[in-house]
Amino acid sequence: MSRKVKFSSNWRKAKAKVTKCHSDIVNARKDYLHKTTTTIARAHALVCMEDLQVRNMSKSARGTLEQKGTNVAAKSGLNKAILDQGWFEFRRQLGYKLTWRGGLLVVVDPKYTSRTCPAGLHESKDNRMSQAKFECVDCGYVNNADIVGTLSVLARGQRVLACGEDVRRTKVVKPRRAISAKQEPAEVTKQGEIHAQRRRNPLRLRRGGCQFMVNKPNI
Ligand SMILES: [Zn+2]
Repeated sequence: MSRKVKFSSNWRKAKAKVTKCHSDIVNARKDYLHKTTTTIARAHALVCMEDLQVRNMSKSARGTLEQKGTNVAAKSGLNKAILDQGWFEFRRQLGYKLTWRGGLLVVVDPKYTSRTCPAGLHESKDNRMSQAKFECVDCGYVNNADIVGTLSVLARGQRVLACGEDVRRTKVVKPRRAISAKQEPAEVTKQGEIHAQRRRNPLRLRRGGCQFMVNKPNI
């Protein structure tokens, strides 16, 4: 594009190619996110995930930059935006898709998940031998560090649900229905009632994104 004369017809052709490329990337990401979140929401009633780690994410953006090594500042912003979007979008989609089906998304504190022993809850940085290997210095439990992290997140989520353990960084995404049911018996103007009826009409849902609730009961 930079070698073409600006606003010439060859420049326009090149611009169209670049735009197409970018929109293909965006569509591929959207497609992937929707497919994964739908699969997960269909198969599970409870999903626990780690809370967003902005610091780790920006670190990984820098990491990829070191390998590429060009356009550092510009790409740093772009990478961060992409990473951010993907992460938030994944969590957002999973949240509302689970809500449709009566499921629950629990976001837990990510601190020390991959160095806490799933067997005895012993937490130490010596538990994590390397990036991949986990071996508990207390009881000798051995597993892959990523699997240990996953087990910890699940256990934490279950503890949060059972007895509200340390809720400082924990968010439970509640089904929206329960909230709106509470708010409904407020003052009802005529216009307001029409709106409320429309909202309750399941046929209306066929227009929008929430089509699962029309015929299928919540699991
Ligand atoms: Zn242990």
